[in-house]
Amino acid sequence: MVAKLIDGHVQALLLYREIAAQVENFKAAKGYTPGLAVVLVGDNPSSQIYVENKRKACAQVGITSQVHHLPKTASQEEIIRKINTLNADEAIHGILIQLPLPESIDGLSVISAVAPHKDVDGLHPLNLGLLFMGRPNLIPCTPLACRHLIKSVLPSLKGKCAVIVGRSFLVGRPLGVLLSFENATVVQAHSHTANLVEECRRADILVVAAGSPRLITKEHVKQGAVVIDVGITRGTDSKGSKHIMGDVDFEEVQEVASYLTPVPGGVGPMTIAYLLQNTLTAAQKS
Ligand code: NAP
Repeated sequence: MVAKLIDGHVQALLLYREIAAQVENFKAAKGYTPGLAVVLVGDNPSSQIYVENKRKACAQVGITSQVHHLPKTASQEEIIRKINTLNADEAIHGILIQLPLPESIDGLSVISAVAPHKDVDGLHPLNLGLLFMGRPNLIPCTPLACRHLIKSVLPSLKGKCAVIVGRSFLVGRPLGVLLSFENATVVQAHSHTANLVEECRRADILVVAAGSPRLITKEHVKQGAVVIDVGITRGTDSKGSKHIMGDVDFEEVQEVASYLTPVPGGVGPMTIAYLLQNTLTAAQKS
């Protein structure tokens, strides 16, 4: 068996089209445009690329965007002051804090400063709490992206075994909740899981969000499983060229999986599409 590719660019473009049409309707009805503000602290090169990609994506669907770039020396109080200004700005419907923040900053305090109705990353404790209680408001973008990609090839998850490698509050945990609400049976694996191969081999759906390049090989994958690779690790090969690695050994796993996402071009583009969707949703609810 050679796995079919789940193309995140194609899926994202389909979603962009829907969002762009809804943004047009929104503008016609309300007379103003949904607005996103991204707060970037410091000069992490990967973060700068991600922020630029988000800015371009907003322009593609007609959402206005602003980037507020603070120096890496910015204090927590300064960051929160900026967020408070954006919370009060009626032209801004969504606020995204680009992660990671510098180590000296308490991320939870900063995320908690974002008004929950503008929290388009879905990471405010209130929004995560509502999700866990089954009454979601704004949901984190990467878990939404993973669910979308899985359902594009497997419309019903009822009774399926979903194994998620990773339990971060950004990806693994909220995704576990989403898939559980889809009536999948969820196994949440992590770095202390006793036998990762055995756990992963139970999976009809295997999602890997560990940040550990090529952690998952064909021995981890049941024949015919759907495999979603969330991992992004930037590296340099022996010839000095830069490249991005996923958590899945693509060449090996495509021999056994039925469907597989590539890195790059899988979860990444869909995550941005859901940021746009969340910004529109926040504007519609405002
Ligand atoms: P994280 O906070 O570092 O969490 C990693 C998780 O993986 C932890 O729960 C950790 O277990 C687990 N883990 C690490 N090594 C493992 C191993 N060898 N075996 C089993 N479990 C292991 O990372 P994250 O923020 O969730 O991100 C995960 C990856 O996804 C990163 O590569 C990140 O860049 C990528 N990502 C991609 C997107 C996208 O849009 N494509 C979005 C977000 C993140 P413990 O809890 O026991 O430490």
